[in-house]
Amino acid sequence: MSYFPDSPSQNLHAFAFSHRRAGHGHKPAVIWLTGISASGKSTIADALDIALQKQGRMTAIIDGDSVRGGLCRDLGFTDSDRDENIRRVAEVSRLMMEAGLMVIVALISPSSASRHYARSIIGNEFFVEVHVDAPLEVAEQRDPKGLYKKARAGQIKHFTGIDSQYDVPVFPEVHLNTQALSVEQSVEAILDWVGHNDSRG
Ligand code: ADP
Repeated sequence: MSYFPDSPSQNLHAFAFSHRRAGHGHKPAVIWLTGISASGKSTIADALDIALQKQGRMTAIIDGDSVRGGLCRDLGFTDSDRDENIRRVAEVSRLMMEAGLMVIVALISPSSASRHYARSIIGNEFFVEVHVDAPLEVAEQRDPKGLYKKARAGQIKHFTGIDSQYDVPVFPEVHLNTQALSVEQSVEAILDWVGHNDSRG
């Protein structure tokens, strides 16, 4: 069977990248930060990026806002466009991971089905789902970009948590309660998980 069952091309084969790992001395992974807007994904992604680089790891950040300006600029916020957005991010993450990077994705990724799809594209063994958790009231108070204000005023439609659903992750690899944890403690929790699982596979 083709490695890419959805593709019209039937003779595609996955690139074996195990030799890359040896070169970088650690197992690559995709650390997928999911959570509602202003939960802290970008803030934690930046701090995690710095911490991983201090460990000598090669990293890349894929931020939801920046892909929407480029790779996914043709997509809106309907359910099917959000799913396509996530599929593209997952495919690009996989390519970067295959190049040996630790990839940090900061993307609301509200539907559990599409996160599951991303996991299947990246591979269960490499996918680290991190729920960046803040209650809606708290995120709405933080509102660093003023987006909740706009959504409440009806200026943004399909806004996650207001008029679009967020499926709370049931079994994320890491759960971060951002009301209880500082940014540094959240980074530590992710690094702990990655460190303990570096020998998987
Ligand atoms: P997102 O990327 O999820 O939309 P951002 O990282 O852009 O969220 O914004 C989260 C805001 O919440 C930032 O202004 C950040 O400083 C603030 N914040 C307060 N406490 C925390 C915490 N414990 N963890 C992460 N962010 C926090």
